[in-house]
Amino acid sequence: MSEAPLAEVTTRVDTHCPYCALQCGMALTPVTPVGRQVGGGAGAVNDVDARITHVAPRDFPVNRGRLCQKGWTAAELLDSPERLTTPLVRHGGSLRPTDWDTALDLIADRITRIRADHGNDAVALFGGGGLTNEKAYALGKFARVALRTRNIDYNGRFCMSSAAAAGIRAFGIDRGLPFPLADVASADAVLLAGGNLAETMPPIMQYLRRDALMVADPRRTPTVAQASLHLPVTPGTDLALALGLLHITIIEGYADADYIAARTTGFAEVKAAATAWWPERVERITGVPVAQQYEVVERLATANRAMILTARGAEQHSKGTDTVTAFINLALALGLPGRAGSGYGTVTGQGNGQGGREHGQKADQLPGYRKLDDPAARSHVAAVWGVSPESLPPPGPSAYELLDQLGTDAGPKALLLFASNPVVSAPRSSQIASRLRDLDLLVVSDFVMSETAALADVVLPTAQWAEEDGTMTNLEGRVIRRRAAVAPPAGARDELWILHQLAARLGCGAKFPVEPSAVFDELGRASAGGPADYAGMSYQRIEAEDGLFWPCPASDHPGTPRLFTERFATPDGRARFTAVEFRPVAEDLDPDFPVYLTTGRVLAHYQSGAQTRRIRPLNDAVPASFVELHPDLAARLDVDAGDLVRVTSRRGSVTAPVRLSAEIRPDTVFMPFHWEGVNRLTNPALDPTSRMPEFKVCAVNVSPVLPAQRRARREDIHAEVS
Ligand code: SF4
Repeated sequence: MSEAPLAEVTTRVDTHCPYCALQCGMALTPVTPVGRQVGGGAGAVNDVDARITHVAPRDFPVNRGRLCQKGWTAAELLDSPERLTTPLVRHGGSLRPTDWDTALDLIADRITRIRADHGNDAVALFGGGGLTNEKAYALGKFARVALRTRNIDYNGRFCMSSAAAAGIRAFGIDRGLPFPLADVASADAVLLAGGNLAETMPPIMQYLRRDALMVADPRRTPTVAQASLHLPVTPGTDLALALGLLHITIIEGYADADYIAARTTGFAEVKAAATAWWPERVERITGVPVAQQYEVVERLATANRAMILTARGAEQHSKGTDTVTAFINLALALGLPGRAGSGYGTVTGQGNGQGGREHGQKADQLPGYRKLDDPAARSHVAAVWGVSPESLPPPGPSAYELLDQLGTDAGPKALLLFASNPVVSAPRSSQIASRLRDLDLLVVSDFVMSETAALADVVLPTAQWAEEDGTMTNLEGRVIRRRAAVAPPAGARDELWILHQLAARLGCGAKFPVEPSAVFDELGRASAGGPADYAGMSYQRIEAEDGLFWPCPASDHPGTPRLFTERFATPDGRARFTAVEFRPVAEDLDPDFPVYLTTGRVLAHYQSGAQTRRIRPLNDAVPASFVELHPDLAARLDVDAGDLVRVTSRRGSVTAPVRLSAEIRPDTVFMPFHWEGVNRLTNPALDPTSRMPEFKVCAVNVSPVLPAQRRARREDIHAEVS
């Protein structure tokens, strides 16, 4: 924060936290140093010296006056000395400052030459689930209109794609929660599979009552500590658990025959497949005791209102789509989706994980959640963009496949990467870093020097959340306003401006407006008639109504807080049961790799940590990575808390200190994914439908580092004591 004397509080700005999909409402108070006001009456945004001195939660209907420590400290990064404030261009081994025209001319010139030599697909784009709807939309349009490349995808593929695919398969539409969060509070029974919400988004816990909450997780997490039942599921076996719960539902007569007959199709096949999943077999595979399986089903089936929620722990697998499908089958058999206060939902992770997957930065997608291979969708969107449908490229490869092709003979030669850090967050990350180094041109747009930006040929400094206008779509499908409170540092620019400038140099600048409201209005037209229809929304309506739920097809439409109350978004209006088969983890334990590794988040950090690791209180809280393991495993390895261990998978190795915890299974270790290294280990085996990598489980070997020194130290201590 600025040390200058402060005075003259300017207008309080209501906006939202920059981090997770809860998008907590917060109020920012910008203050300007004495005698330095230069604005023309429009508040602190016009004032380059204004700084945010106060962050406070506000009574937004999602967070209801609460923030987690990430939200409270979010403004600290705005004034960080680590902010990038000028474009950088690589000369030899180092990145050197330059001006914007030089950087943009260089990028446009190199792109033009690469396209001329290798074709349009030689240039790729990679986006992020934290970008505003406007930027996600502009990025997809830039790929298809300015570059005409099929090669675009984004890091949300690593986050939400399995739940999204399963939702579309069953309901015909993917909206994380098809109901407002407030409905969760009224549920008498909630099964959460693979989510640690008490650490990832703490304010959501106010909706989850202890007496209602049941959690399936390999670890006894802080979320489990607030639940009334813990199902200690073996990593990678959630699908078997869901099949077993459906088996009990049917055998015990809990299946809702009237609902199944009236609102669904395909139950007979699913029922037949479930017969093989008797409870003792499920216990053997999952580790969840038979009695617990019965308790879960009884509580879900006899509650007045019941919900099944999934999160990344169940979804980030090479069978994630089928796992979520199995939980949806269970919810449908119990008659939950579309019933008041009941249903199935996935708890979206990234800040704009919902909107980021709706408007075209996915490889197979056009705005409004339309499919790129749908002729009618191509015609509609092409007309909005003023291009011919034939000029739009076909769908391209998914995120990991795209990254793994970079710099190869047949792959893209240039990558423009926005707000993503795959060197930390992609599976098998050493390989991805190597691919990035093989490119002829790597351009990274970010506001700090991330691990990925450090590899770039050109780095473009961008504005941050409190310095920009736009919209985000939270985990409920509620579209909300992000509002600028202060000006970005001189030298940093907004991605919409960057795309406009590049498009102008490529001959189509007029198609890329820079005003967020103009982009949003165009997005509304492009999404009109699609599943995620924003056509009836405007900035004015969103502000006046504190958010609007999609679909909202007309300016007099109230928005749609609850989906599926009358019909599902399938052609016949019925939800679809889909029979799925269990399959083991892509890489199971063996004598060389005898321990499961699972990964996740800690309270103090967010995603690749590029932001939160630079915020002092958060970094002080958890300054480095660690390996959480059970005391029994520690005894077998002869290690103690704080000792360094080497964790090795078939793809790489990483060293970190031990954290002992009796709350984890003895056959499993946990590492947070906020630091570079852990994803060197993770398995890029992909889900055949969603193309989600198997982040959540791989087989590793854990070995002590420097055991001799540690033993000597212990002997010294024993000698002193005796
Ligand atoms: S990180 Fe998530 S839970 Fe925490 S304040 Fe921000 S939006 Fe809310």
